[in-house]
Amino acid sequence: MIFPQIEINLKKIKENAEKILDLCHKGGIESVFLVSKVLAGDKKIINEIAGLGFTHLADSRIENLKIYSDINLPKVLLRLPMISEIKAVIEYADLSLNSEIEVIRLLNSEAKQQNKVHDIILMFDLGDLREGIFYLDNYLDTVEEILNMNNLRLVGIGTNLTCYGGIIPTYENLSQLTKIKNTIEEKFSVKLSLLSGGNSSTLHLLPKLPPGINNLRIGEALFLGRETAYGKILSEMHADCFVLNAELIEVKTKPSYPIGLMGMDSFGNTPEIIDQGLMRRGILAIGKQDVALDDLTPLNEDVEIIGGSSDHLLVNLKKEYAVGETISFALNYPALLRLMTSSYVKKKYIE
Ligand SMILES: *Cc1c(COP(=O)(O)O)cnc(C)c1O
Repeated sequence: MIFPQIEINLKKIKENAEKILDLCHKGGIESVFLVSKVLAGDKKIINEIAGLGFTHLADSRIENLKIYSDINLPKVLLRLPMISEIKAVIEYADLSLNSEIEVIRLLNSEAKQQNKVHDIILMFDLGDLREGIFYLDNYLDTVEEILNMNNLRLVGIGTNLTCYGGIIPTYENLSQLTKIKNTIEEKFSVKLSLLSGGNSSTLHLLPKLPPGINNLRIGEALFLGRETAYGKILSEMHADCFVLNAELIEVKTKPSYPIGLMGMDSFGNTPEIIDQGLMRRGILAIGKQDVALDDLTPLNEDVEIIGGSSDHLLVNLKKEYAVGETISFALNYPALLRLMTSSYVKKKYIE
């Protein structure tokens, strides 16, 4: 067995995926995008769940969509395309989320070049202040120009909340999106097939969403079992699909307060350490290069995180552990993201 190791329970992930699809379908969401970005391109997990009923596979990085090329779902680029990656976007994504007309023009000409028709969802910012055309700004000229492009199809509009500003999706703010859709459809006599009402933070509203919202883009809820407006674990979902196991490389009794003139720690911060007398201290072989230590929660009772550096995690051991033993941690979203991205962390799949 090799450590540090992230233990991945495929069965629990699959059960979560089935639950989410069921919850969405019963709430009138016909199309659910499987958002894979927290997995950093892990194909084994995607293979396990891609066929359960998701309509699209969505990721924020083209590199990951490329890895998933042979998976039989349309691919969505979630993050607004960089101008420098337009060629790859047309090559590896069937659909992209967009908000900048210059970029959309370039997508159209590249799609023509590659003899393709590329789908886009036009994003609207309803107040969270991440991506999208601000909902009070004029958008009709942009929409008209897109509708006249030969190699792009405007398949829908969408919004993203609870990402920068922490704004919670409500019936009221999401109704703005329905209103924009209706305006576009009436003004241009078109039909937009997707009205994309957000991410895992919209789940708490189900089944009562504003009329017409028929798509959600779901990542965190699948893998961590929780909605993200209030952080609640969803009923009958697994929050423990992923567990980190790290190995003890030193166990010694030492003072808890450093000795000598105190300057900065290895990351340039001044340590704030409380003197608790002698302490049984363990060092685990994992560090801030792989995960922010605050994002971990020990699963072993009698273990408390006291700090760490690039490659070391220090713990207070309230019961006896031996060098070579492992300690397990529960993960939040940023922990999962960084651990999956770290090439130093090995993966162990549980079927
Ligand atoms: C990450 C992301 C999602 C999925 O968010 P979760 O909270 O993980 O469900 C949806 N849409 C966009 C644009 C994203 O960037």
